[in-house]
Amino acid sequence: MKPAPFDYHCADSIEEAVALLARHSADAKIIAGGQSLMPMLNFRVVKPSLLIDIGKLVELDYVRERPDGGLTIGALTRHRTLETSPLVARRFPVIPETMQHVAHLAIRNRGTIGGSLSHADPAAELPMLAKLLNAVIIVQSESGERHIPAQDFFVGALTNALEDNEIVVRIELPGLPAGSGSAFEEFARRAGDFALAAVGAVLVVNAGKVTQARVAMMGVGDTPLRCPGAELALVGQVLSEEVLDRAVEAACAPLEPNRDLHASPEYRKHLASVLCRRVLRTAWARAGASHE
Ligand SMILES: Cc1cc2nc3c(=O)[nH]c(=O)nc-3n(C[C@H](O)[C@H](O)[C@H](O)COP(=O)(O)OP(=O)(O)OC[C@H]3O[C@@H](n4cnc5c(N)ncnc54)[C@H](O)[C@@H]3O)c2cc1C
Repeated sequence: MKPAPFDYHCADSIEEAVALLARHSADAKIIAGGQSLMPMLNFRVVKPSLLIDIGKLVELDYVRERPDGGLTIGALTRHRTLETSPLVARRFPVIPETMQHVAHLAIRNRGTIGGSLSHADPAAELPMLAKLLNAVIIVQSESGERHIPAQDFFVGALTNALEDNEIVVRIELPGLPAGSGSAFEEFARRAGDFALAAVGAVLVVNAGKVTQARVAMMGVGDTPLRCPGAELALVGQVLSEEVLDRAVEAACAPLEPNRDLHASPEYRKHLASVLCRRVLRTAWARAGASHE
């Protein structure tokens, strides 16, 4: 199919993009990498009268160090940059570990972090990473900037907390404490497919015990999820088999995945529990290794 007719404007600056969006907000769409929007246009799931292309705004394509050990990532940073940047790998090894699972190379060369977060697909890796890494998503409109914690950004399947006149401009990732270990695993039927389920974890280990724990999942709800029950079960503990059992149970018992063509809720829950156990073991081992 072909898209419904639309006007097209390639923005020369963030200010111009934001001003155009303010004027046409109800009826305009931002296009970044186009990897999700173009199929939606072609299937006429969306029929904007104006496309505002931000693809030439090189000022939104960067990865910068933050003094706290974290990173600031421009909204137009491509998936491939997140997969291959030595700086990203040094500060957040879980990002390249995850990005190699996102779609195919051609899509990773075009897709952007701002586009993936804004698209808010419940089976997309970057929204889950944003929740796992306590990201803050900075959005801009004509009235200035707004800082939205990732925990509040994903409202439902393909639904985010952006107002009609706002553009994602950058993502802040606070640094991880010393003694952190992280891991990510997913299950997809074929390489490059959207995953049926995925789990990421960050454990901070000091003096042989977990002092901080973060567990996040995707593919098992309408949005990526954090698992506070599991995090609570891990803190203060040595990662024994009993602790793992308790944490995995606390993470998976509340899950209510949807039934769809790809998998039953029971199967997705089973996958989540297997992946959760694996990533916790790996994150624990890596946190231990970071002390040696
Ligand atoms: C075959 C195929 C397989 C895929 N597999 C995966 C996968 O396994 N995992 C995965 O995570 N993704 C997958 N994707 C999606 C891909 O990662 C997209 O690139 C990404 O979701 C969207 O990024 P984009 O820059 O292309 O956004 P676009 O397609 O340009 O835009 C997507 C949406 O975000 C909005 N938008 C874009 N940028 C901004 C911004 N800065 N501010 C506000 N709104 C904005 C647009 O208006 C649109 O609504 C797949 C895509 C395809 C075609």
